[in-house]
Amino acid sequence: MNLPKTVSTLVVALTLAGLFTSAHAAPDAGLKAAAEQAQSAVIDSLRDMVMIESGSSDAAGLAKMAAFTEARLLAMGAKIERVKSTKAGGADIVVGRFEGTGRKRVMMMAHMDTVYQPGILASQPYRVEGNRIYGPGIADDKGGIAVILHSLKILRDSGWRDFATLTVVFNADEEVGSTGSGELIATLADQSDVVLSCEPTAAKSVAKTEALLLGASGTATATMSVKGRAAHAGAAPELGRNALVELSHQLVQTRDMAKDIPGAQLSWTVSKAGLVRNQIPEMAEATGDVRTTQNGAAEKLQAALQAKVNAAPLVPDTVTTITMEIGRPPFVASDKGRALAAQAQAIYAELEGRPLQLVPMTGGATDAGFAGRSGKAAVVESFGLAGFGYHAKDEYIEVDSIVPRLYLMTRLLTEIGKQ
Ligand SMILES: [Zn+2]
Repeated sequence: MNLPKTVSTLVVALTLAGLFTSAHAAPDAGLKAAAEQAQSAVIDSLRDMVMIESGSSDAAGLAKMAAFTEARLLAMGAKIERVKSTKAGGADIVVGRFEGTGRKRVMMMAHMDTVYQPGILASQPYRVEGNRIYGPGIADDKGGIAVILHSLKILRDSGWRDFATLTVVFNADEEVGSTGSGELIATLADQSDVVLSCEPTAAKSVAKTEALLLGASGTATATMSVKGRAAHAGAAPELGRNALVELSHQLVQTRDMAKDIPGAQLSWTVSKAGLVRNQIPEMAEATGDVRTTQNGAAEKLQAALQAKVNAAPLVPDTVTTITMEIGRPPFVASDKGRALAAQAQAIYAELEGRPLQLVPMTGGATDAGFAGRSGKAAVVESFGLAGFGYHAKDEYIEVDSIVPRLYLMTRLLTEIGKQ
């Protein structure tokens, strides 16, 4: 996931009312026992994956992660497809497919890449300390991969085949915007009834309770380009059309415009203009960080910005153009997704009333945005392990989240199978 998910998840979670009740059903004893029995194997998998450094630009590391996940899926009887990233030089996406005897088409996803640079293990090694296991990428998102692999192992060992198709997607560029995998995720999600995305949930040490996520911001990049006219700044400035001055004017008059576009947020963050001191600058450009919580908001913002800069220029004969590069779509859970999350909440409560918050929105961006873009599948996010420190330092998972998360995933899948 991208920052600042941790912080915003925490803030939102803390502002929500506690939702669990004391009346809860008894757990499925078989699945609970299987989850408990699997804990040490999950820890082994986490260690194996942490020992593979796999930053988003680490081709060798990502190839090792692909080999690791592929071998695990193959051992469970999946048909494997390696899908090339649509971005030149991008690492392979691992897609595993199972065929069952039920009706539902289920998709599960997590990402193999991390935000860390090669050599990170030297300064931040794998280590176990009480209820915490530390390691780069262990929560975000190797914990999510472990939840998928071990949940499927438990269900396979129990003979469960109550699904029509079960598709597992492990991509390799989530931390850099999923530019080479997002369209594949959207396509595969559209062929599914349910998508369970396995980013981490915030650790109990920092959040009130573990959570599932029902919304996440989308991203876009706005660019404002001004074309003016160069002239000698000392001898004949009046012949020039100062692009820097026009850009400054346009930035000021558009800085609050996103407030009028529902679901859009804009911050101008980077600018450049001029080449040398003694020339009136011909070109100036600014880029802005755009966050969206509604589909189409970035496009509406672009149109509004262009109309504004056209209507009220300052420097005559300058031309100002607004472009918008759309990144991840926003994730907004549908009614079907919300119903699924409520079901997950009830399942968590089977574990002696363990609470599960349903967080409506975070400022971070996740692949659930691509999966939910068309609205066809029911999408819920954050089925990974509880952790903290991702995108920061001393990333860890909480060991006592392993059994509940395996139980949640396996139980939810069996419930989905019955529907
Ligand atoms: Zn992540």
